[in-house]
Amino acid sequence: MRSLAMVDLKSQYKKIKHQVDASIQEVIDSTQFIKGPIVKIFQGELAKYLGVKHVVACGNGTDALQIAMMALGLRPGDEVITTNFTFIATVEVIALLGLKPILIDVDPETYNINTKELRKAITTKTKAIVPVHLFGQCANMEEIMSIAKENNICVIEDNAQAIGGDYTFSNGTVQKTGTIGDIGTTSFFPSKNLGCYGDGGAIFTNNDELAEKISSIVNHGMKVRYYHDRIGVNSRLDSIQAAVLRIKLPLLDEYCQTRQKVATYYNSAFADIDDIATPKVAEYSNHVYHQYTMKIKNGKRDALKQWLNEKGVPSMIYYPVPLHKQKAFSEFAVAQKEFPITDKLCKSVISLPIHTELDEEQLLFISSTVKEFFK
Ligand SMILES: *Cc1c(COP(=O)(O)O)cnc(C)c1O
Repeated sequence: MRSLAMVDLKSQYKKIKHQVDASIQEVIDSTQFIKGPIVKIFQGELAKYLGVKHVVACGNGTDALQIAMMALGLRPGDEVITTNFTFIATVEVIALLGLKPILIDVDPETYNINTKELRKAITTKTKAIVPVHLFGQCANMEEIMSIAKENNICVIEDNAQAIGGDYTFSNGTVQKTGTIGDIGTTSFFPSKNLGCYGDGGAIFTNNDELAEKISSIVNHGMKVRYYHDRIGVNSRLDSIQAAVLRIKLPLLDEYCQTRQKVATYYNSAFADIDDIATPKVAEYSNHVYHQYTMKIKNGKRDALKQWLNEKGVPSMIYYPVPLHKQKAFSEFAVAQKEFPITDKLCKSVISLPIHTELDEEQLLFISSTVKEFFK
């Protein structure tokens, strides 16, 4: 059996090596490493794929979130609502900009922002909502957008884990995740569903004015060289990463489908195990399974993790500690709040290997090792 890993970028690369190498070589030959024409071409291709008006590439997914908040003109003290069950980047940039992170509990089934809690958390100081489409499933965007509209609040979708996913509105309209809010952001970190070979990120919007601000912010706040209109940052996708992404973008749908097949395999393998709750997919979203994250009941999660470890099956806990319990946020008001659902999830979730290169033999080994534990 080929060796198991949470992600297998090596096997994936082998299949596209020829195209990727040639694409990278072209950039090297051109020596246009920064702001080469290939970055613009990729931005256009991604915009077309997503069905969004503007894509601005940047240095990474964390920068993308920060730049989005800067473009919205948020001011110190403004409240930004997001969830407590996410990767730290989302909340880190809120704090970094001097904004006030308001964390709320998640839906216990989808792990995404709980819209009832969201309604309750809104105050006159709320300026933005940041839904995180966790593990590859879109949050309830129709509800979130209507709450935002009622209260005149902006929405930034953290789409780092759900690129390629679809959201279906109640009237049947389908839109790509990350293109529904005022701004969407993503990460091209190598292990993400659309990953490059280093760091990378992007920001999406249908709003011309915001797009112009974002383009200026990523580039030291300038439009005309050496004339700086605002305080910006230096955050760019380099040409070599764009060269890799141009090869991988046309494969994204296939990559998502392969992940979905793996999830279907696991779902049916674990269907009759009472102690496992396989991932729930909401009716309004598909799932592109950045992670396959299940809940283990009756306090057996840690023992299962140890068992898998002993048998050579990789697994991960996303996330072991809720954000309000992180040392970094101990001085923040959120540290005093209680989040019963997130607390419970941090103790019960476990993620199994899911990627584009898993074969039948590996899937059988992983699933039967899990099943053996519950016998
Ligand atoms: C990966 C990730 C980010 C950050 O992306 P980087 O490119 O690593 O900066 C932000 N939010 C979420 C939900 C992520 O999973």
